[in-house]
Order: sequence, then structure tokens, then C-alpha cells
Amino acid sequence: VQEISNILDGKALRERILADLKKRVEALEEKPKLIVFLVGKDPASELYVGNKEKACAQLGMRSEVVKLDEKISENELIGIIKKKGREAHAMLVQLPLPKHISEERVIEAIPPEKDADGLHPLNMGKLLRNEKGIVSCTPKGIMRLLDEHKIELKGKRAIVIGRSNIVGKPIAILLMHRHATVTIAHSRTQNLDELILENDVVVAAVGKIGLVKDVKKGAIVVDVGMNRTEKGFVGDVDFEKVKSKASYITPVPGGVGPMTIAMLMENTIECFEMQKK
Ligand code: NAP
Repeated sequence: VQEISNILDGKALRERILADLKKRVEALEEKPKLIVFLVGKDPASELYVGNKEKACAQLGMRSEVVKLDEKISENELIGIIKKKGREAHAMLVQLPLPKHISEERVIEAIPPEKDADGLHPLNMGKLLRNEKGIVSCTPKGIMRLLDEHKIELKGKRAIVIGRSNIVGKPIAILLMHRHATVTIAHSRTQNLDELILENDVVVAAVGKIGLVKDVKKGAIVVDVGMNRTEKGFVGDVDFEKVKSKASYITPVPGGVGPMTIAMLMENTIECFEMQKK
């Protein structure tokens, strides 16, 4: 089989974005500060938070991780976020939170102009209305990666699989704003395999190995899934099966993941600049 797909290399683009952001930070007299709130000791969350700290350091930005006990109450957490948050230009709460805490309530405690993850209802509302606000890092990173390769979305049929607030919903809205015709699929969707074959763009954001087994010839395939295996992370797309049919495809790792962290850094700087205006 002739391989026709172009790999959407998020790692390479991340490096270019971080190099540009570094210059932007160097030009600032005061350095932006990101505060991350980490509740509990989930190893995956600890890994992600560590990567966020490293990226801040690489850019010459300040960061602080506020580590909190798993048993902290919702009100206590909200109190700490409100108090500590005054020192930050940008902040985020590492998700998921323990079951007894409402993520929605906690996110609402973040001032919208410091909401590095773009999950506050005001920022999500602005996204829905296509107004300038802070956009969630993973969806923003996917759009940047597609734009980098000058991929036209207008008039295309796109399917987003997954409907979370952090990935599925915002990427579906962003694709719609670019004039794609968007289908949002989820766990109750029927005949998913057939639906996928009808679409020119496929975004898989579920967390299930082998979810996307086949695509339309020439499809643009974005794999957000991060599934931990003994051999490392794999996505939701069967890369080997799909890559010869896709025109573009993101690898896992090295596709969407690196873009997410780059966009978090960009959002942190944008929060800073918004507050200094
Ligand atoms: P999530 O909140 O668990 O949402 C998963 C979504 O998938 C839900 O909407 C669910 O439907 C849907 N779903 C579950 N089983 C399905 C099935 N068999 N067919 C179709 N849809 C199904 O997950 P998330 O936070 O959006 O993350 C999704 C994946 O992306 C995970 O693997 C996560 O690790 C990864 N991720 C990667 C990055 C990155 O930077 N690369 C960032 C964030 C997340 P219902 O709504 O009906 O339950």
C-alpha cells in the first residue's frame, strides 16, 4: 500500500511555538506566573503537572504547584484557590478531582481572566458565541496544528467523537466556527463506524484503544486519545490501519499532546497580558 498520509508533527511545532513564546517572555519586565492546584496523588496528574512546571521554567516564567490532600473539602479548596490565586496571573486546577468535589463549582472560583484552561463558564460561553476569550488548550492546539498545515475546513464534514467540556465540545465548536459541518458522537451513538466513514475530518477524544479502525480516503485524522499501555501511550485510532488512507494524521505520542502544553504556555502569557492592559 502506498503511504499517502502526512504526519501532523505536534512535537516539532511545540518547539517552534515555545521558542517564540520564550522571546515574548524575555521582553517582559515582570514574568508571568502560573499556579497549578493538584489535589491527591494520582501518578498521571503528577506527571502532567511536572511537565507544566518544566515548560514554564523553559520559558523563564514562574510557576507554583499547590499540592493538597485528597480529603480536602470542596469549600476549603475553593477558599485556597481564591486566596492563592491572587498571586497568580494564570491558574488551573488539575483534573480529575476526587469524587466528593464538584469540578464545576471549583472552576467557577477561578477568575475568568486567570483561567489558563479556558474552562470557566464565561470563557466557554465566549467560545460558543465566537468571541475572544481563553480557549481550552487541547482544542486550541489541534486548530493550531491544522492551521500550520493550511488544512481547509470550510464545507468539510467533521466528526468529533467524545463530548467532554475539555476536548469534545470545544473542538466541535471551533470546527463549526471554521464552517465545517460537525457531528458530535458519544457513548450512545449508533453505527459509529459507518458515521466515521462519512466524514472528511475525524477527531477521536474518547480514551479507547482501537476505536477508529477505518476512515474515508483522504480523511484528516486527529487522535486525542491517550491510553496507557505497557509499551507506553497509544491513541484511540488504529494508526497502522488508518495511516495509509488518511491525508493527514496525528501520531500518539507526538501529535496533540505536545500542542496542549504549548497552548497552556500561550494562554498563561495571554492571561498576563490581559491583566496588564
Ligand atoms: P472523558 O471526559 O472521559 O470523555 C470521554 C468521551 O468519550 C465521553 O463523551 C464519552 O461519552 C465518550 N465515549 C466513551 N466511550 C465511547 C464509545 N465507545 N464510543 C464513542 N464515544 C465514547 O475524556 P476526555 O477528558 O475528553 O479525554 C478523552 C481522551 O483524550 C482520553 O484518552 C484523555 O486521556 C485524552 N486527552 C488527551 C489530551 C492531550 O493533550 N493529548 C488532553 C485531554 C485528554 P459520554 O459523554 O456519553 O459518556
